Order: sequence, then structure tokens, then C-alpha cells
Amino acid sequence: MRKIHMVDLISQYQKIKPEIDKAVLDTIMSSAYINGPEVKSFQAELEKYLNCKHVIPCANGTDALQIAMMALNLQPGDEVITASFTYVATAEVIALLKLKPVLVEVIPGTFTIDPAAIEKAITPKTKAIVPVHLFGQCADMESIMQIAKKHNLYVIEDTAQAIGADYIFSDGRKQKAGTIGTIGCTSFFPSKNLGCMGDGGAIFTNDDTLAQKLRMVANHGQSVQYVHDEIGVNSRLDSLQAAILRIKLRHLDEYAAARQKAAAYYDKAFGGNVKIKVPERDAKSTHVFHQYTLVLNGVNRDELRQHLASKEIPAMIYYPIPLHMQKAYKDDRYKEGAFPITEKLCASVISLPMHTELDEEQLEYITRSVLDFCK
Ligand SMILES: *Cc1c(COP(=O)(O)O)cnc(C)c1O
Repeated sequence: MRKIHMVDLISQYQKIKPEIDKAVLDTIMSSAYINGPEVKSFQAELEKYLNCKHVIPCANGTDALQIAMMALNLQPGDEVITASFTYVATAEVIALLKLKPVLVEVIPGTFTIDPAAIEKAITPKTKAIVPVHLFGQCADMESIMQIAKKHNLYVIEDTAQAIGADYIFSDGRKQKAGTIGTIGCTSFFPSKNLGCMGDGGAIFTNDDTLAQKLRMVANHGQSVQYVHDEIGVNSRLDSLQAAILRIKLRHLDEYAAARQKAAAYYDKAFGGNVKIKVPERDAKSTHVFHQYTLVLNGVNRDELRQHLASKEIPAMIYYPIPLHMQKAYKDDRYKEGAFPITEKLCASVISLPMHTELDEEQLEYITRSVLDFCK
């Protein structure tokens, strides 16, 4: 059996090696390392794939979120609502810009932000909502957009884990994750569903004026070369990464299908076991399975992880400590117990190997090893 990894980037690369190697070498020979034609082509191809008017490439997903908040002119003290169960980057940029992060609970089955909790958290100071499409499935965007409209709020989608997912509105209309809100932000970190071989990120919007502003903020606040209208940042996707991403974008749907196939195998194997809850699907969103995350019930997680490790099966905890219990984000508003769902998830979730290269033999071995322990 092939060695099992959380994410198997080497096996994935082997299958497209000639294309990737050529693109990398051609880019090196072009010497257009920054903002070269590869970046422009990737931008155009991603716009087409997402059916989105503007893609603004940048250096990473965290920058994408920061640039989005800067371009919306959010001011110190403005409140930004986001999920309590997420990766730190989302809350980090809010705090970094001296905005006030307002955390709200998630829906336990889908792990995504709870629209009812958003509505309760709105105050006159609320300016934006940042839903996170966690583990590859969209948050309830239809409800979130209705709330945003009613209260005149911006929506910044954190789609770092769900690029390529389709959101299906009740009237049947389909839109790609990240293109529904005011702005969408994504990451091309290697392990993400569309990953490069270094750091990368992008910002999406359908608003022409906002697109111009986002480009300006990402480029030193510069409107014309050496003319700086405001304070910006320096955040670029380099040409080598763009060249790699152009090739991988062509495989993105096939990669999602491979992840979904592995998820279906896991679902079938674990279905009916009362100690293991498989991830729920929201009918309004396809699930592109950035992670396959179980919720354990009456199973010692550390021991399960050790059991799997002894069989050379990696497993990860995304995320072990809720934001409001992190030292850097301690806040008098949120004591232990403030977010019982998030706290319970942090204590009971476990993510199994999930990537595009899992074969049946590996899946059989992983599921059998989990089930042996969770009898
Ligand atoms: C990965 C990730 C980010 C940050 O992306 P980087 O490219 O690592 O900066 C932000 N939000 C979520 C939900 C992520 O998973």
C-alpha cells in the first residue's frame, strides 16, 4: 500500500509533472517574475471559471482578507461578525486593523456560521459579516445575504477552504463560493483545494469600483505609478505560482470529484456507527471537502489518534482551541462557555486524510482502523 498522507501533494504533482515543469521553466526563461503574463492569464482564467468579473491575485489568503477590509474603508471600532469556529486568520486581520471582532456560533452539523446567531449579534456599529466556508462547504449564503441587505452590511466570504464549491439558491440559481458576497477571499496555500507551490491568494468581486480600489490597496495604495492616494500594502502573486495555478485550475473540478469520492467512501463506512458522526451536507451547497471531519461521541480522541498513528495513518485536529480561548484573542466579552457548540467541536472533532490521490486500498485501511477503535 502507498504511504498515507493527510495531503499527498507529491502523487498529485507526479500526474501533471511534465506540464508543471514546462510552465515553471518557461516562466524562469521569460524573466517576468512579478506581474508577468502568467499572472494576467491566471487572473482571466479564474474569472472565467468562477464567472466573476474581477479576480485580484495577491500574496496569500490572510492578505486577501486584510486588503478586503482595507478597501471597504472599515474604521477602528467598526464591528465585524465572524464565526467562532474557524482558522485564526479571519479574526486576526479584523483585530490587526483595530476593528472589533464579534464572534458568533456555528451550526454543529455543517460547522458553518449560524445566520440566527449573526442576526442577534448585529448592533449599530456592525459593518460587515465574514462567513467562512469551512472544510469545503458554503455557509448559508442565502440567509446571510438577506440579513446583510436588511442591515446594510458588507459580506466578505472567506473561501480559502471552498474554492470551486457551488452555492445553489432556492430559485435554482448557482454561484461559485466567494462570488456571492461583496468580496470573496481565497488562499492558494499548497494544501488548499487549489494550491500552488508556495504562498498565494486572491480576492474576488463583481463590483468595478471596488475592484479598482482592491488593486490599489494591494499595490501600495498606488493609483498611477509613484502616485500614492492612500496607505496600502504590497501583496502580489508571483508569476511562477501563477503558472503552476493555471495548470492546476484546469484540474480543479476533477480534484473536487476525487475528494467527493473519498468522502462518500468514508460516509458509507462510518454511517450507522453511533460513536462517529460524519460531516453533514447542506443541500444548498456542493461540498468540495477541503477536510473530512468527524465528530466523536464517547471516543477518546487522543487515543484514537495514537491508534491511527501506530498504523501510520495521520489525523489532525482542526481546530483544537476556540478563538475566544486563545491567549491573543482573550476578551472580557467571551469567557469559557460563551460558545458551547464551538467549544464542544474543538474538543471532539478529528479530520482524516483527505486529498485527491486516496485509493480504495488506503480508504479501506483507514476506515477499518478507525472502526476497530470505535467499536
Ligand atoms: C488557509 C486559510 C486562510 C489563510 O490563508 P493563507 O494563505 O495561509 O494566508 C484564511 N482563512 C481560512 C479559513 C483558511 O483556511
